[in-house]
Amino acid sequence: MIETRNLVHRYDGEAAVDGISLTIADGEWVVLSGANGSGKTTLGRHFNALLEPDEGEVLVDGEPAAANPVATRTAVGMVFQTPRDQFVAATVGADVAFGPENLGLDRDEIDRRVTESLAAVNMAGREDDRLDSLSGGEQARVAIAGALAMEPTHLVLDEPFAGLDWPARQSVLDHLADLHADGTGIVLVTHDVRDVLSRADRVVGLRDGSVVVDADPESARERLADIDVRVPEC
Ligand code: ADP
Repeated sequence: MIETRNLVHRYDGEAAVDGISLTIADGEWVVLSGANGSGKTTLGRHFNALLEPDEGEVLVDGEPAAANPVATRTAVGMVFQTPRDQFVAATVGADVAFGPENLGLDRDEIDRRVTESLAAVNMAGREDDRLDSLSGGEQARVAIAGALAMEPTHLVLDEPFAGLDWPARQSVLDHLADLHADGTGIVLVTHDVRDVLSRADRVVGLRDGSVVVDADPESARERLADIDVRVPEC
């Protein structure tokens, strides 16, 4: 479970997250939306202890997130907007193995996780491929596999569709749906909710660092337009 209590984050004295209290249950698929600059990325980074609260707190499984970043990042996997920025190795297999290696797991367990994580995103057997030879959609899926190899309870994805064409976007979304069906919680940070709403359990909308929408996707649909989020017509 991820929980924020009156979370405030400021940049140069300006609140980007302005007193947010939110609880995200295990297994829940939450779409976190809002216009550019509404605070989505800042909030998402707190879930993974990449930032520390200026006020309030963030708890992951009941423990303060920033006090134990390794436990936090094991429970909450993060996939960034530009997969290239999170790659640490030259090949697919070495990159996906990096997180489990840092947990000090033995080789058999690392290999099992790499194999299973790549299979989960339809990249089985691609261990030796060079990351720079992959398409954008494949890179996005490898980035997800890298997060999955930590066997997190939640996956936070920040604008994972940026730069993807429609088929690649659908492929990533289908894989997220499979992960959700298997019990992984998904927090999908996006300003573009076109084909995403129908898959989610819940939509949280931000404006100026505050939660102004927190509803099931059907009820949220109309209210998102009020906060300048592009909403599907169908
Ligand atoms: P979103 O993800 O919804 O676009 P962000 O969390 O990136 O929102 O940004 C929220 C606000 O914080 C914006 O006004 C943005 O300009 C500001 N901001 C974000 N990151 C920084 C930073 N590193 N330094 C200063 N201001 C920032």
